[in-house]
Amino acid sequence: MTAKILVSACLVGRPVRYDGAAKTLDHPNLARWRDEGRLVVVCPELAGGFSVPRPPAEIDRGLSGSDVLAGTARVVDLTGADVTALYLAGARSALALARAEGCRFALLIDGSPSCGSAFIYDGAFAGRKHAGAGVTAALLRAEGLEVFTPLEIAVLAARLESIGAA
Ligand code: SF4
Repeated sequence: MTAKILVSACLVGRPVRYDGAAKTLDHPNLARWRDEGRLVVVCPELAGGFSVPRPPAEIDRGLSGSDVLAGTARVVDLTGADVTALYLAGARSALALARAEGCRFALLIDGSPSCGSAFIYDGAFAGRKHAGAGVTAALLRAEGLEVFTPLEIAVLAARLESIGAA
């Protein structure tokens, strides 16, 4: 069985971050999965309607993606604009792609208000992190996908092995 993996576009070298940069992960597992055709690449923020570059954004008041999904938190950019609707649209688009491609797993850049799954920033644009997930990661998890950070790539590899999909 070959398991497909939803992966952040900036993680595989695409210059789609808010500042026009990528955040390329150079790791043999990722290179092998790419060569095996397992990777399903998505940038939820571009899918939601943003372009590059764009102002950085954070989830407000130290809340997290699950709060945004529940309608009790907003995503606000550095100019003060409420960009929650675009983040929700991007998350839904990523989920639709994952379902269409049969992905059970996702490997997403951490810290992003979309893709973060272990930590995000607290909404003050002061560089302060806290435990929590971004909007896309929270939605994927709520829909049953297993979401991993780049630091957990070995855990994802072991998980694939455990289900006979390595
Ligand atoms: Fe990378 Fe995700 Fe941000 Fe797109 S939304 S730039 S894929 S971290």
